[in-house]
Amino acid sequence: DCRSFCVWGIGREATLAIIKPDGLLGNYTETIKATIAHSGFKISREKVVQLDEEGAANFYAEHSTKKFFHGLIKYMTSGPVLVMVLEKENAVSNWRSLIGPTDGRKAKITHPDSIRAICGADVEKNCVHGSDSPQSAEREISFFFDTPSGSQRGGDDEHDEL
Ligand code: UDP
Repeated sequence: DCRSFCVWGIGREATLAIIKPDGLLGNYTETIKATIAHSGFKISREKVVQLDEEGAANFYAEHSTKKFFHGLIKYMTSGPVLVMVLEKENAVSNWRSLIGPTDGRKAKITHPDSIRAICGADVEKNCVHGSDSPQSAEREISFFFDTPSGSQRGGDDEHDEL
């Protein structure tokens, strides 16, 4: 059974991280990247993307029937995002622990050291994304990136438009 880690190398798992528009425009990128580095992740791919409505709706298709969907799409298209592939052992669950609970306001109380506690404002504007399972990670990574890291497609990732 080959999940995302098979693509990235034995013992390693890959997850998709996004610094959302409020995180990027609020100048939290450096702080977040410092946490990523201290936690032993390798950033194998990254690019800045301006999502359009169709792209954001596809990415969050599983939430299309939810009440918050329209607001979420508006939020995610309100400015550029920084998309990153993070690699390490147990990358998916590790990154989820680091970002903390969905609601940034609650995170400040229950998980004060989490990333969302630091830069998340509320249940919508929570400054970062993390894949919730290896299966989601695989889908989400291929949503943003054509080819695995280390392949021939290099150097053209920065500031791609979706
Ligand atoms: N979201 C929202 N209202 C809610 C729940 C979620 O606006 O009541 C937004 C929020 O930005 C969240 C995203 O929708 O990160 C996806 O929701 P999910 O439940 O998958 O949370 P996550 O996995 O990002 O913690």
